[in-house]
Amino acid sequence: MKKKIEQIKCLIIGSGPAGYTAAIYAARADMKPVMYTGLEPGGQLTTTTEVDNFPGYPEGIDGPTMMVQLQQQAERFGTEVRIGQATAVEFGENPGDFHTVIIDNDKVIEAQTVIISTGASAKYLGLPSEQRLRGGGVSACAVCDGFFYKGQDVAIVGGGDTAAEEASYLSKICNHVTMLVRSDQMRASKAMQHRVKNIKNISIQYNSEIEEVIGDQVVEGLAYKNNKTGQKTEIKITGLFVAIGHKPNTDIFKDQLEMDNAGYIITHGKSTKTNKPGVFASGDVQDKEYRQAITAAGTGCMAALDAERYLADIH
Ligand code: NDP
Repeated sequence: MKKKIEQIKCLIIGSGPAGYTAAIYAARADMKPVMYTGLEPGGQLTTTTEVDNFPGYPEGIDGPTMMVQLQQQAERFGTEVRIGQATAVEFGENPGDFHTVIIDNDKVIEAQTVIISTGASAKYLGLPSEQRLRGGGVSACAVCDGFFYKGQDVAIVGGGDTAAEEASYLSKICNHVTMLVRSDQMRASKAMQHRVKNIKNISIQYNSEIEEVIGDQVVEGLAYKNNKTGQKTEIKITGLFVAIGHKPNTDIFKDQLEMDNAGYIITHGKSTKTNKPGVFASGDVQDKEYRQAITAAGTGCMAALDAERYLADIH
């Protein structure tokens, strides 16, 4: 039996701050956007507790509440929010072509414009104790959660620019920061390495691999091993920050869109345009540099404006 095809003006894939902001703008421009939420409705912010750095919330707001409010705001202007995941895409090549997106391996959507806001996922070590204590002292975002560890001892795992930058950030808030690097050198730029090495309350442990995050309900300590000498160490900490990289959620767009080596979608110039006309990318899926809710929201707005202009041009 032939599948029923739904044709729409604007499809938004992903429901983090970028997707919802794109939805608010697209709905207000009468583009009648349809959003598919993806597997994690609300995106990465739903895995964090308090959001204190989004302008306009003087008392802070918890991540899940903020995402519900963004959804309500998008729906108020007519966005249709649907639970479902894009599982395959076939983007048109020429201006005016429809783009085909398959939802949940079943439903077929043909959209004149597609805004991709599928975000990125923080990588975790994969230890059972780490997974159990996510939200109980294990965090993948120092800028989001560092403040809760004011005056306390924390650890950060990773040796890249993110880990170095976050260690430096945490050193200003916390009593002491232990940085665990798995090899005998950091991958971070020389300038960042220099910076963290010169901060008094950061100590760097090389060749160190975490064996267990200690704690029942909340993080109480860390057990790690020197992978050269085999020596085991236990330290007392209340927070563990994981900064071992992010993975953009772009697997289904491979072979369709231009991406960098790490899989982030490349946007052109000062815009959200991808290499396919009518396909736009916003939020962390195209940004490995800033990765903040507010910057994601900004590019979501840009994507809706770019899509609106594109529709005006092809008609
Ligand atoms: P990177 O991939 O650059 O670094 C990841 C770090 O985590 C490496 O030290 C890596 O170790 C370590 N690591 C990976 N997996 C594990 C594991 N399972 N256990 C322990 N350690 C692990 O990621 P970043 O997020 O730091 O940076 C991503 C990109 O963004 C980079 O290009 C970076 O330069 C850029 N960036 C730039 C900034 C700036 O310029 N201000 C700020 C932040 C990011 P190993 O080296 O042994 O593989």
